[in-house]
Amino acid sequence: MPSRLYRATFRPAGVADWRGRHRAWGVAKLGELLYLTFNSWDERARCGASPYRLRDQPLGGRGRTSTERGRRVATEVIHLSGAVIVDGETEVTDVWSVAGRLTFDKPSRAADLRIEGVVVPGLVDVHCHIGLGEGGAVPPREARAQALADRDTGVLLARDAGCPREPYNTRWLDGEAWAPRLIRCGQHLARAKRYLRYLARDVEPDDLPDAVEQEALAGDGWVKLVGDWIDRSLPEPDLALLWPDDRLSEAVARAREVGARLTIHVFSAAGAAQALRCGLDCLEHGTGLDAAMMAEAAARGVRVVPTMIQREHFAEIAAAGRGRFPRWEAHLRRLYEERYDQARALYEAGVPLLVGSDESTNIPHGVFCTEIELLALAGIPPEAIVAAASWDARRYLGIPGIEEGASADVVVYAADPRETVGVFRAPQAVVLRGEVVAGAVAGAVL
Ligand SMILES: [Zn+2]
Repeated sequence: MPSRLYRATFRPAGVADWRGRHRAWGVAKLGELLYLTFNSWDERARCGASPYRLRDQPLGGRGRTSTERGRRVATEVIHLSGAVIVDGETEVTDVWSVAGRLTFDKPSRAADLRIEGVVVPGLVDVHCHIGLGEGGAVPPREARAQALADRDTGVLLARDAGCPREPYNTRWLDGEAWAPRLIRCGQHLARAKRYLRYLARDVEPDDLPDAVEQEALAGDGWVKLVGDWIDRSLPEPDLALLWPDDRLSEAVARAREVGARLTIHVFSAAGAAQALRCGLDCLEHGTGLDAAMMAEAAARGVRVVPTMIQREHFAEIAAAGRGRFPRWEAHLRRLYEERYDQARALYEAGVPLLVGSDESTNIPHGVFCTEIELLALAGIPPEAIVAAASWDARRYLGIPGIEEGASADVVVYAADPRETVGVFRAPQAVVLRGEVVAGAVAGAVL
């Protein structure tokens, strides 16, 4: 019999009694509230506690459940059935999670829980910033809320596209069973006065190769650079390159020496052209690629992350320069107007795309589904978007999807996301390390 899991708030007064009479999976005392998990609705009712959904917490809200702490609840075996999409070619009808690992062999033990639907490998946001706020690195409480907001949308693997390591860092998340997996780019590298304040590490061009090596060693095999930004020292300020070609090429070579890959923020055509010329692996935003550059990126397998939500912000970013930087304003406005056509053209040209929300200072966490919907709005077929947001991205980042022995990190939908991206908003179940952590099923039954 599947047990049930509820998250509830509780006054301390009744707790000792409650713990004696009912079995709780986990209890954490934080301030005045206790966050409990119940194993049935009846128990919840008998205790008189009101249901408490984690996602209702404000940013930085308090309270931890047993699931967040990684304490195992009674779902040793989950049977996932229906359409299990391994990748674009392979589909099976059943897969099991046994003690947090996937297997295609039916276990001898009966399943504690059966979830039916369309199963895909956990979603991948390749461009977000967990641990980052407007003033730089945020305290763990806030980073935790960001990570949870992302996880509950089905994002179980995130490439962190740049975050300071001081005075806080997010390494502690690696030890948390409830947290999505993170692949860090270290702190992104820019030049003084050539990027948003407090976020990037300022580096002079001559120091770029050394800085890339340092960030590669501090991160998880990726380094993020800022390739173009407004240059206010120009007679007519506009987007302009941050680095000379030789230093950027040297930085790429240095990254290779330490086994790291490089991704780069580029808005302009000049930025995209330079990134291709100097051998970068991946382009963030990539609004400036024209047809010739798209053909080159496609031929060489250079990845582009269109960041559609961020593109939506280009109009207001441009408006900030009104009257002061007319050339820059016009440039951003043109990129804004072309945002959908250009994204579709990237797909049609065969550029391998990845999905990145750019949740950071101007975009709240938990909006990955919006990013997916905007890609669809641009005219990219749902099937291609699912691949880019799931198995293809996992393969690219070197993290297993649905395979024998892999961590049970999957999302289950009631309908096929390859047919309509609308289903992403309402997962049946988000399963992380073999535990149902979110989705309709998590709200009622575990
Ligand atoms: Zn970003």
